[in-house]
Order: sequence, then structure tokens, then C-alpha cells
Amino acid sequence: MEFPTVCPACAGENRAEFTDSSVHDLTCAHCGARYCVFLRKQKFEVLFDLGTQALMDGYAREAVASFAAALERFFEFYVWAFTLERAANAEQEFGAALSGLEGTWRHVASQSERQLGMFALAYLLREGHEPDFLTARGLGTDFRNRVIHRGALPTRAEVEAYAALVFALIDRLLTELGPGAAHAELAQEQVFASHLAGLPDGVTAVFEEHPGMFRARRFGGLAPTPKLSPQPVPGQVPGQPRKPGKAVNDARAYQQALFRQALEERGALLRSFKGPPLNVPPGRE
Ligand SMILES: [Zn+2]
Repeated sequence: MEFPTVCPACAGENRAEFTDSSVHDLTCAHCGARYCVFLRKQKFEVLFDLGTQALMDGYAREAVASFAAALERFFEFYVWAFTLERAANAEQEFGAALSGLEGTWRHVASQSERQLGMFALAYLLREGHEPDFLTARGLGTDFRNRVIHRGALPTRAEVEAYAALVFALIDRLLTELGPGAAHAELAQEQVFASHLAGLPDGVTAVFEEHPGMFRARRFGGLAPTPKLSPQPVPGQVPGQPRKPGKAVNDARAYQQALFRQALEERGALLRSFKGPPLNVPPGRE
């Protein structure tokens, strides 16, 4: 998957492929200048944005794999943030904490069930209560498995509901993490710093932040989303008798509203990261 970059020497556009490390060593196709793009974006954000693009482009089924992967990578991000935050609070040295974490993660890296286990404990230790959303229903597991492992062809509406569920969950956990998220981002900065130190003379470093679906929320730009009334917590809505099953529907409606709003505010920006063609004739969309 590609994204456009601008050459710092001639301002020409070059497309780069997303890398796992978020470091992109490039040579301009127009003027031959060498530059390196450091993308300040977490893996879960890249994956969620790729899923959103696929959904907007009509590839509903393909989008599911990206949303599911985004959630798994977010759980990893959470464990990273929690562990490094805890180490910082205990005045542990960052490098030592990071290498301990990397070593530990290697034991769970190839199995997502193990990672989920680590996340569950991290959540309990940080928030002081059970991660009650870690159910098949709360994670949309059945739907995900049907599509990914059994080849089911989902409707766009089903995929949108799944995207909304994943989005709302990540959004909520990011909100709970608050400034704690910065500790995981520091790990990325460390990777950048060591690559930067090794860049040969004459290579220009370019740092970029992409306007992904979660960025606005994290930097406070996304307008606050009013929780739809009635709330999914019984007894909070004055004058409204609750019906059985309503809480589930309310939660879904809230997820949908949150995702739609983010899509409205950020979707247009995401379009610029689609593959070619960049110029869609007016009225096509
Ligand atoms: Zn150039």
C-alpha cells in the first residue's frame, strides 16, 4: 500500500510503500535527491486507515482483515504504552524497560491469543477492573472469523458495523490511556533517532504526521461526540422507560455515530493516501 510523499529538493511527488518500521528511504524519481520519510503513525492507525480506504472504495470484504489486524496491533500498542508508562513512573531507565519488553513480546509475537492474554492483564493492572469488553460479541469475533477464515461475503453495512465497533473500542481505550499513549510513541521515536543517526550526508530527513482516523481524537481536534440518549447504562435517562435489549442497540448506535463522524471529518483527508488515480472525475463519488 502506497502513500504520496513530496521531495524536499524539487517538490515533486513520489509514492512510497508503507513499511513496518515507519521509516522510508527514498530517491526522488524527478531529480534524484535522496530523502528519508519518518512517518509518525502507529501500526494500528495505518491498518485502520487502510481498512477505511478499502471500505470507501467498495472493497468491503478486504476491509475486514485490515480492521481485525488494527485491533490486534492496538492491543499490542496498549501493552507497550502500559509497560513503558509503568517503568517511567518507577523511574526505570527507558532503554532497559524497552529491551525487557521487546524480549518478552517475542514470546507472544506469533500467537494472537497470547497477546490478548497480555492485554487483559495490562488492562486490569492499569484500570483496576476487568476488561469486560473482551467477549466474542464485544470484539465482533464471530463476524471476523466468518469473513477471514470461512470466506463469507459480508455486506457493506455489516462491515461498517464491524468497523464502527473496532473504532469505538480503540477510541475508548485511547481515551483511557490519555497521555500514557505517549510512552509507546517514544519507542517509535527511538527507532527514528537511531535511523537518523545512521543516515549518510546529503540525505534529507522528513518527519510526517498523517491525518488518520484516530489522530484528531488524540490531539483533541475531533469534535466531542455526544453519547446518544438513552445511555447504555440503565437508570441514567430521566423519563425514559428502558426496553430489554435496548442497551445493545444504543451501544451499536453510538459506535456507528462515532465512526461516521470520524469518517466525515477525516475521510476526505484519507483519500489522498489512496493508490492512483489521484484525480477522480468530479461527481464520481
Ligand atoms: Zn526531487
